[in-house]
Amino acid sequence: MASDPNCIFCKIIEGKIPSKKVYEDEELYGFHDIAPWAPVHFMLVPKRHIPSMAQLTSEDAGLMGRIMTLAPKLALEQGCNPYPDGGFRVVVNTGAEGGQEVHHLHVHVMGGPRPWARG
Ligand code: AMP
Ligand code: ZN
Repeated sequence: MASDPNCIFCKIIEGKIPSKKVYEDEELYGFHDIAPWAPVHFMLVPKRHIPSMAQLTSEDAGLMGRIMTLAPKLALEQGCNPYPDGGFRVVVNTGAEGGQEVHHLHVHVMGGPRPWARG
C-alpha cells in the first residue's frame, strides 16, 4: 500500500498534518519528533507506507541503505557534534514489544550534548 489514510505519518508526508521538515526526496521524508528525547531528534521515514521493519524485503535494501547513509549528514546539519566526540544514536522501534507506537516505519536519529531525558 502506497499510503494509509489512517496513518499519521502518511498524513505528515502528504502535508495534511504539519511537521518541521528536515529532508525530502522522492522516496524519503525527514522531520523533527514532536516530543524530542534529545537536543537533536528527527525521524527519517519512507514515503511508502511500510508498517515496520518486520515487513521489509530484500527489495527494500536500497531504501534502508539510503536512510542509513543520509542519517550522518542530516545529524550534522541538525546540530549533532562531529564524530568521535559528538555523534548520534539511531533507533528503530519495531512492534509492541519493541516499543513501536506509530506503525509507519521510522528511523529515529538523536544527538546533541548529554545527558538525555530519555532513550
Ligand atoms: P515510536 O515509539 O518509535 O513509534 O515513535 C513514534 C514517535 O513519533 C514518537 O517519538 C512521537 O513523539 C512521534 N510523533 C508522534 N506524532 C508526531 C507528530 N505529529 N509529529 C512529529 N512526531 C510525532
Ligand atoms: Zn503511513
